[in-house]
Amino acid sequence: MAATRRNVYPILGGTFDPVHLGHLHAARAGGAALGASCVTLLLAARPWHRAPPQASARDRAAMLRLAVDDANAGRLPATANDPPQPDVQRHPTLRASEQEGVDAGPSYTVSTLAAIGGGEPLVWLLGDDALASIGSWHRVSELAALCHLLVFRRAGAAGPDPTRALGFRPVASAAALGRHRCGRVHHLAAPTLDISATRVRERIAGQADASALLPARVWAYIRRRGLYGAARTPRPADHALGDAAGGGQ
Ligand code: ATP
Repeated sequence: MAATRRNVYPILGGTFDPVHLGHLHAARAGGAALGASCVTLLLAARPWHRAPPQASARDRAAMLRLAVDDANAGRLPATANDPPQPDVQRHPTLRASEQEGVDAGPSYTVSTLAAIGGGEPLVWLLGDDALASIGSWHRVSELAALCHLLVFRRAGAAGPDPTRALGFRPVASAAALGRHRCGRVHHLAAPTLDISATRVRERIAGQADASALLPARVWAYIRRRGLYGAARTPRPADHALGDAAGGGQ
């Protein structure tokens, strides 16, 4: 007999260098497929398994808070909701978190999940690009005892799928993850936006317009702070951003 379905705790972890519309769209789509009311976007302040981020942890955290505010207020451009669906505009709610703190040591996903766990089943949302390198995560053998995985198909060739070798068993739908405590995986068929932070950084460094890829206030923050090689364009309307985001120099 199938176990009762429980509410789940979905988390999209990332370097968010910077957070972009692809992240927000994926968080919403994943949360909706899970029937969740809230999705947490968790900043890896000091990712240890990849090249150091270009922007500081404080700037990335500030941009994440601005992005989540814009998303929850229904202020994202139409590309973030493609094709437009009125119900997807504001639900589920998004939440920005810096579990490790921006000044903490290296960010280890397994340690973070162990610290959060104990309540609702945790669902780690990730793209198939991130899945391909999951085998190199710190203490990855413990992952299946801590959470489920919900995997997005990103543009480009999918890498190897190590989930079975890590002890995850497939379930037929995202909603079915909530019937189990941990250790299940589902690959979402829903389309994702073809946006990466690498492409955003490249466009900005080339002095190109990145406004179609980012929440408006994140784009303004980047220009005001001159991040990623953007020409600094202080504007009176932007002064409040740094104060609100706590992102002073
Ligand atoms: P970079 O290009 O610097 O590698 P990124 O765009 O992949 O960055 P990350 O912060 O590394 O962003 O990604 C965090 C998580 O979000 C990963 O699991 C990644 O696969 C996923 N993700 C990133 N962009 C998208 C997208 N457009 N659609 C779905 N998932 C995404």
